[in-house]
Amino acid sequence: MIPAPFEYHRPESVEAAVKLIADFGDSARVLAGGHSLIPMMKMRMTDIAHLVDLQKIGTLKGIRIDGRSVTIGAMTTQHELIESTALANVAPILREAALQIADPQVRYVGTLGGNVANGDPGNDMPALMQCLDASYHLQGPDGARTVKARDFYEAAYFTARTDEEILTAVSFEAPAGGHAYVKQKRKTGDYATAAAAVVIAKSGGACSAASIAMTNLSDTPVWCEAAGDALVGTALGAADVENAVNAMLEVINPQDDNKGPVAFKRHAAAVVLRRAIERAASRA
Ligand code: FAD
Repeated sequence: MIPAPFEYHRPESVEAAVKLIADFGDSARVLAGGHSLIPMMKMRMTDIAHLVDLQKIGTLKGIRIDGRSVTIGAMTTQHELIESTALANVAPILREAALQIADPQVRYVGTLGGNVANGDPGNDMPALMQCLDASYHLQGPDGARTVKARDFYEAAYFTARTDEEILTAVSFEAPAGGHAYVKQKRKTGDYATAAAAVVIAKSGGACSAASIAMTNLSDTPVWCEAAGDALVGTALGAADVENAVNAMLEVINPQDDNKGPVAFKRHAAAVVLRRAIERAASRA
């Protein structure tokens, strides 16, 4: 299908982009890789009069690593996350998760910023960012502010970002220990039926820290604090893992859709979380 007519803008600075968005108000949207927005426009599910393309803003691109502090520009593509050896050395879970997004064509243009800003519960990066306790950096007409990934998602496609703000970067402290992102999907290139992001640290054979977040099992990504807490201080035995799985099942809220009924999704959630805990623990 063909989208409704729109005007195309290509600013060269964040300030210019913010001004365009503020000037055009609700009739404008930021364009990043376009792999979520353009299909919506083509299906006429959204009608945007002004597209503000961020491609020419160099400051929004790139991965900066300082010790264990990682800052990733919003316009960094999923392919660039996969290609970065420096990133894989400090936070290999990003490469593991990015490799499970769609297919290479999508990953060459789809950006980290678009993936986390969109508010689509099916996107893989939001739960991962909650697992890592990442911060989102926003810039709007009133200046810059930071929102935690764990506080960002309000409902499907509703986030703490105001219409006039641009997400400029994502940052986090790379956790020590093991990690895993395990995703169950119907076919290659599909969105998750269920996915789990897990980071585990061990000390003296016991779990000393754990963080768990789930993808596409509610209308937002779900950081499962109690599930992570259920693992801390344990030897990560089978009963400990089941306690974490049960804590996760308490806080997800999947709905029936073309990916399956609720009972199947809860089953898939438990399976991916068990696998992710086991894999993360084996790497810790
Ligand atoms: P765009 O489509 O350009 O933008 C998406 C939305 O975010 C728009 O509303 C836009 O205004 C807003 N936005 C973008 N960047 C910013 C910013 N910096 N600041 C403020 N707002 C911004 N994703 C997955 O996670 N997992 C999958 O398995 C998966 N499968 C896919 C399969 C297909 C066939 C396709 C087409 C897409 C798939 N995607 C999947 C989505 C893909 O990863 C998208 O590219 C990504 O979610 C959005 O990134 P984008 O750069 O394309 O954003």
